[in-house]
Formats: sequence, structure tokens, C-alpha cells
Amino acid sequence: MKPKSRIAPTPSGYLHEGNLANFLLNAALVRDGGELMLRVDDLDRARYRRAYVEDIFRCLNQLGIQRTEGPVDVASFEEEWSQEKRLPQYRTALDRLRESDLVFACPCSRKELQNGTHVHGCLDRKIDLDTRDVAWRVDTRQVSEELLIPDLVQKEPFVVEPHTVIPDFVIRNKAGRPAYQLACTVDDRLFGINTVGRGQDLLPSTAAQMILSDLLGFDALMSRITFLHHPLITAVDGSKLSKSAGARSEPLRIDGSIIQRLEGLTKQWLG
Ligand SMILES: [Zn+2]
Repeated sequence: MKPKSRIAPTPSGYLHEGNLANFLLNAALVRDGGELMLRVDDLDRARYRRAYVEDIFRCLNQLGIQRTEGPVDVASFEEEWSQEKRLPQYRTALDRLRESDLVFACPCSRKELQNGTHVHGCLDRKIDLDTRDVAWRVDTRQVSEELLIPDLVQKEPFVVEPHTVIPDFVIRNKAGRPAYQLACTVDDRLFGINTVGRGQDLLPSTAAQMILSDLLGFDALMSRITFLHHPLITAVDGSKLSKSAGARSEPLRIDGSIIQRLEGLTKQWLG
């Protein structure tokens, strides 16, 4: 089968070198006649800014990364490819998930959940899913204690404990919007993605998406997608540049030496 990967940035900040290295990796994974989609994950409207989407296209162009699917500029993104356009598909998935015994309604605040227990009897399923201001969560006490995540490069699979790393993860937030894990699971299947390079900071997300894929009745995630979970790169100040560390206050200046360094990293990750 032809490899098909995706570059899936979140427009909640200017891209950093970690994002760019990840883009180059995904381009490399499909280099031999595969397909590469650009998918802008813009469900988080609170942090969305148009300038961040512009930054994504600027970086892709400067890196010379060709795509075969997805938006080609900000206008086509807004008209056709925003995740807002796929809300019906996410709702269909949520309708299916609400039938699962594992899904429960939870009005708990972040503070209330700090010690890991629900204080409103959420786990007894006493709260109607259609109550206002409840999040929908998956009871991770009821899934496998350990999930194995095979890797394209690492010999041994990663071992992830869902209830430890993503306890009762959210699939629909209190405002009734689909959560990242849900949208990502639906999108990857919808677009036939079979190859993904992502940072090791996203191993918990991969575990959540394995669980959701099963609950939705999709073919097992690991049978559909080959993953390469790469190490995180370190910024000049020594901090790790994860997917979510999009805290740059201004666009990154991309020059030949940066590209060379990032391409070197990508090669290293490919083993
Ligand atoms: Zn709760």
C-alpha cells in the first residue's frame, strides 16, 4: 500500500523547530511515491489566530515540503479544510461513543479532579450525558492496563498505561465541542492515513486514539497506521520542544543552517 502521512500542526502559536523537524520527518516517510496531507488542527478556537495559519504555509514553503492533499493557502483552509467543516463527522462519532458503557458525563472542575477522584458520582453514571456543562470522558479504569505501541524504528514497542498517562480523557468538552483525541481519530480514518511520525510527547495521545478507534468499531489503530514516535528536540535554552510548546512570540527565522540541522535530526530519527 502507498504510504500516506499527514502534517497536523495546531494554529495556537508560531511554529518552533520541533514542529518543523516533525514536518520534514513526515515528508521523508512518504518520499517514495507516497501521499502527504496537510491537516490544520484548529478545533481550539480560543487560541486560534489567522497569523498562525499563515505561519504554517510560510514554513512549509520555506522547507520546500510538497503536499498532495489539504489546504494550499489560508483562504482554502478557511473555506474548505477547517475542522469546523467536519463537525458533523465528529458528532456522528460522539453519537456512537455515547452508547458505550465506558463513556460518562463529568461536571468536575480541573481543581476537583486534581487528586484523581470524581466528586460528583460521575463514575456511577448517574449524570445524564445531555446535562449542561458536563464533559464526556472515557473511564480508563475499564481499558487495558497496558497498551503496546509498536514503532517503525524502535525495536521494542513503547508501553503505555492509559489510566496513568491519560486518566479519563475527554472526548467532548463542557461546551459540547469534540476534543482533540476524538477529532484526530476520526480524521486519520476519514483520510486513510497509514503512516504517522509524531513526538514521543504524544504517546499518551496515541494510546487514547487506540482506545477510541476500538470503541468506534474502526479497525485497530495499530493495524491501520504505522507510527514512528521520535524523541523531542531541545531548544537553545535546553527546554524540550513538544508539539504543544508553541510558545514562540514571533515567527521563526528559517535559514539554510536551520534546515540542515533539522534534516540531520530527521535522518537520525529514521534510524
Ligand atoms: Zn467527574
